[in-house]
Amino acid sequence: MTPRPAAFLDRDGVLIEDTGYPHDPAAVRWIAGAPEAVARLNRDGFLVFVVTNQSGVARGLYPEAQVGALHRWMAARLAEAGARIDAFEHCPHHPDAPLPAYRRACRRRKPEPGMIEDLLRDWPVERAGSFLIGDKPSDLAAARAARLPGHLFPGGDLAAFIDEILA
Ligand SMILES: [Mg+2]
Repeated sequence: MTPRPAAFLDRDGVLIEDTGYPHDPAAVRWIAGAPEAVARLNRDGFLVFVVTNQSGVARGLYPEAQVGALHRWMAARLAEAGARIDAFEHCPHHPDAPLPAYRRACRRRKPEPGMIEDLLRDWPVERAGSFLIGDKPSDLAAARAARLPGHLFPGGDLAAFIDEILA
């Protein structure tokens, strides 16, 4: 595969509304323009990755399998709109987790860059043109630590926001 630039997208607050540890597909509300945004990135030749902290697992709010189930559901809904996420990465850990199995200061938990680094290692990513979109300072810190530009999404229409980044 020829190296291509990548868009690293936070999930909650960027693709779907951050309603507080969303995990049930039935309760998911998409961000306006999210499928169109992903489809545009696909069309423009970007690899598209989701990088999401899921400390709800460490907090015992939902089992880790639920994260994968939600991501499969999101992928199916996006496919209906002609949009594709190339990989979903999540970090289930938290340093103060009530569940010992998930109590860890993890290199993959944003603001650490581990999820991004793992994707850069496993996929043919061209750094030039690659970027991250997040809705929190910790997202941008992870991008900075991975030496990628980060864009803070203030809400609104994600497709319009990405159109501006790519303009
Ligand atoms: Mg977020």
